[in-house]
Amino acid sequence: MSFAPLNLIEPLLKAVEEQGYSTPSPIQMQAIPAVLNGRDVLASAQTGTGKTASFVLPILQNIHNKPRAKSNRLSVLILTPTRELAAQVHDSIQEYGRHLSLRSAVVFGGVKINPQMMKLRAGVELLVATPGRLLDLLQQKAIQLDEVHTLVLDEADRMLDMGFIHDIKRIINLLPKKRQNLLFSATFSNEIRALVKGILNNPVEIDVAPRNTTAAAIRQKVHPVDKAQKA
Ligand code: AMP
Repeated sequence: MSFAPLNLIEPLLKAVEEQGYSTPSPIQMQAIPAVLNGRDVLASAQTGTGKTASFVLPILQNIHNKPRAKSNRLSVLILTPTRELAAQVHDSIQEYGRHLSLRSAVVFGGVKINPQMMKLRAGVELLVATPGRLLDLLQQKAIQLDEVHTLVLDEADRMLDMGFIHDIKRIINLLPKKRQNLLFSATFSNEIRALVKGILNNPVEIDVAPRNTTAAAIRQKVHPVDKAQKA
């Protein structure tokens, strides 16, 4: 199957083609229609499954003709556990969104906060953030979350493992109640389930095996043995 039946707009199809993707991965086939329909999504998926495009593509489509974010505001908040993942997700936003004129930024700790504050001043449609630095920016009034309509928790299990649960709860309390929520996690502990219960509203559930797992690579083969050999 190609990307055509997923009803993505031309600028996104063009970007996907330029990336050299010809077939949507299983998570993309399931998540893209759900996100385009405004549904909450709970996905069990690891890195390497194409999970980033599965939320970035439909989110870009959902917001491309909506009003632009106001100063110090954002529309889509993507939380990730590490600066590396934040930077990767932001790179994907820039790649997939290259034919759309949307503004995005990435913020994480361990680097100066001032350039990040400057970037947020005019507003951005999409912000990728690690939880701690986002709270710092909120405290400094560099950003307000009152117009966020889409929340993504990427690698939620890792965020909890790294002790971000209280930060995440504080951030969620600052978001408008009515919003679309997408949660991606490789594993599902009781802690994750509790978080899911408090955040997601009647989610579409997606469970995909990692790409290139042993199970997927195994091929069953029948070797007929003739009677003479059996003896
Ligand atoms: P992710 O799981 O989002 O970290 O993506 C893993 C890798 O798969 C990235 O290098 C993507 O560029 C690539 N990728 C994502 N979607 C597709 C696709 N439909 N076809 C081929 N490669 C893809």
